[in-house]
Amino acid sequence: MEKLKIKNLDVYQKKVLIRVDFNVPLDENQNITDDSRIVAALPTIQYVINNGGAAILMSHLGRPKGHRASQLCLAPIAHKLEEYLGQNVVLAPDSVGPDVQALADKLQPGEVLLLENLRFHEAETKPEKDPSFAKQLAGLGDIYVNDAFGTAHRSHSSTATITKYFPNASAAGFLVEKEINFLGKTLANPKKPFVTIIGGAKISTKIGVLKTLIEKVDTLLIGGGMAYTFFKAQGIAIGNSIHEDEFLDTARELIKACQSQGVELLLPLDLKIADDYNNNAHTQIIDIKDGIPEGWQGLDIGPKTVDLFCNKIKDSQTVLWNGPLGVFEFSNFKKGTNQIANTLAQSPATTIVAGGDCVSAVKASGNANNISHLSTGGGSTLEYIEYGSLPCIEALSDA
Ligand code: AMP
Repeated sequence: MEKLKIKNLDVYQKKVLIRVDFNVPLDENQNITDDSRIVAALPTIQYVINNGGAAILMSHLGRPKGHRASQLCLAPIAHKLEEYLGQNVVLAPDSVGPDVQALADKLQPGEVLLLENLRFHEAETKPEKDPSFAKQLAGLGDIYVNDAFGTAHRSHSSTATITKYFPNASAAGFLVEKEINFLGKTLANPKKPFVTIIGGAKISTKIGVLKTLIEKVDTLLIGGGMAYTFFKAQGIAIGNSIHEDEFLDTARELIKACQSQGVELLLPLDLKIADDYNNNAHTQIIDIKDGIPEGWQGLDIGPKTVDLFCNKIKDSQTVLWNGPLGVFEFSNFKKGTNQIANTLAQSPATTIVAGGDCVSAVKASGNANNISHLSTGGGSTLEYIEYGSLPCIEALSDA
């Protein structure tokens, strides 16, 4: 990476403003159900406080859309951070304003201040609405570090605009450096065969990356909701399954592009279909060649598809996976996603799993340590693959 890195900066006696991604899942009682993103940010935070700097952490949580929402306050995160760091973490009442400035001003080396949810301000996601927001954030620190890989594809006040106030002092944190280095190294020259598994709800959100991947992969395995647009595009009956009519042509173009570039494109052979979008719906396994009856919808891949996909994974040297292969939130339709996670975790290939849903499936399989790279950012990974760079990384100072 040709950008400034945290190790290139002297943090001693400095107030280091660190953009982290603490957008963690919470249950209805505001308990953190997966703290991986907090754990992933620890090396950068610890580096700062162990080297005589003070850390001012800023993050968003959820989508409060510019309003204060008590259920999206960062208090649970401050507590979790205190447990991991073994020291006090001061939670600011807001992310900007005189009270926050006063807390930042009196911060001493070794101390940690966590700003309140950035997205309580509309200007976080819409910097043009109030350019003074980024300026006020910048005024809190001496140095800026971006370690929020999960939002590195979004040009927001705290991830991009802010860097102009730190012309030679905007650096990448350890997590961002690790994610970019891994993706760059692996995808620049993937060991072959290179197999990619793409699932998830819609083709429309992943079309760019699918087109780019066709240039790189040997085999493309498509599952999840997006498969039904491909089936419909080929004239196969899909019943009530999720699909996007305006992307039927795109699906046909992708099928053609795979044929002309010698990419093996594999769609599900069989499916677990349901008579309702509901965990307790009636189900049956059908072969897709017979089509899906009216009133039924595909909610998971079937056993023949699992075998097909798992055999492809076993024969590969590099595997990239993004997007669940069924409605894994329903216990009766998560089998396909979980079986892919298990196979991937046992594969000796270089394996990259990107996106919260797949990362949770891999963790649930109990084999997360066997994955070469569990990314903290699905959207960022896909955009990095598509464009070869990310706007918030580009905004950092050159090395
Ligand atoms: P994405 O964010 O695009 O990766 O999509 C993830 C979502 O896709 C999950 O919430 C899944 O429930 C959903 N999904 C996967 N397969 C299906 C399906 N067959 N029908 C409806 N939704 C699906």
